[in-house]
Amino acid sequence: MTRARLSVDLDALAANHDCLARLTGRPVQPVVKADAYGLGAGACVTRLMRAGARTFFVARLSEGVALREAVGEAPVIYVLDGCTSGAAAALRDAGLRPVINHADQLSRWQEAGGGACGLHIDTGMNRLGFRPEDAPAPFAGLALVMSHLACADEPDSPMNRQQRDSFAAIRRRYADIPASFANSGGCFLGPDYAFDAVRPGISLWGGGPEGRPDPRIRPVATFSAPILQVRQVPTGESVGYARGKVAVQPLTVATVGAGYADGVMRATSPRGQVFVAGHLRPILGRISMDALAVDVTGLDVVEGDRVELFGPNRPIDDAARDTGTIAYELLTSVGSRVDRTYSG
Ligand SMILES: *Cc1c(COP(=O)(O)O)cnc(C)c1O
Repeated sequence: MTRARLSVDLDALAANHDCLARLTGRPVQPVVKADAYGLGAGACVTRLMRAGARTFFVARLSEGVALREAVGEAPVIYVLDGCTSGAAAALRDAGLRPVINHADQLSRWQEAGGGACGLHIDTGMNRLGFRPEDAPAPFAGLALVMSHLACADEPDSPMNRQQRDSFAAIRRRYADIPASFANSGGCFLGPDYAFDAVRPGISLWGGGPEGRPDPRIRPVATFSAPILQVRQVPTGESVGYARGKVAVQPLTVATVGAGYADGVMRATSPRGQVFVAGHLRPILGRISMDALAVDVTGLDVVEGDRVELFGPNRPIDDAARDTGTIAYELLTSVGSRVDRTYSG
């Protein structure tokens, strides 16, 4: 195991599922788009089904088709992109349910024979979905009505209450249809936001909302990479491209086998840190495609020791902050040449 690795703790994933189910008192319908935020949808969905989840959301048709092949007929899978042009036959063949976003999607789905689907109402985000005043009357096959919060990670934003009230009003039109509203942030906004089922992503995977997970949420993913070489750098010499770090005192530097091609973003600021040999230590200079340098002065480390880029000892939201981004982007950026391994 001498490569960069994303280790997924499936027991922690199940614990986060149970935490959100208890917190909201509702079925958890996980969002597993982008290959379960980079963690691997097949393994994660299998474990979430053991935890009791029955309904899942992906973004793309291709993700839905791949997930259906990986996990079989049992789960309900909604495709958030909806019935895009030319997609109806493939949706039906794979037993996927489109979330209908606009009138053309609805006619496409119905002309292809219709069947179970969701309906997305836009309550203010202006991304996907019908405006409330344009929303269609209830129709055959409608199995879910949903909307999405724009500011759920800002609990004090008045936008949350406005969207909630708008959704509560429109969903009365679809009285018997199950309603889904809360993403991860929404799960923490209180019972008014829960409706019939919740639709979290990032909190299942151990991240935010609010850039700081609730203490009940456990880290799930550990991104680690091996030390390839340890070297002494004398005062006045420099490390990496463009002399990104100049030693003002003698340094012990570990070259680690993870770079931007593995998903360690080059924009990681000079504040970037990794966890190594029991300590948080700074990344030095520029991140290159396949490697980065860490200051391990005074630590007892050798080739082959592993460095944690994020995980239980280096919270992903902290790593994201140092990169000027959010946990979502760090997770979905972990490269395809990084091994995914699963425990639990
Ligand atoms: C991504 C997404 C979610 C999940 O959001 P999190 O913030 O990761 O919990 C829920 N609903 C929709 C429509 C989404 O696009």
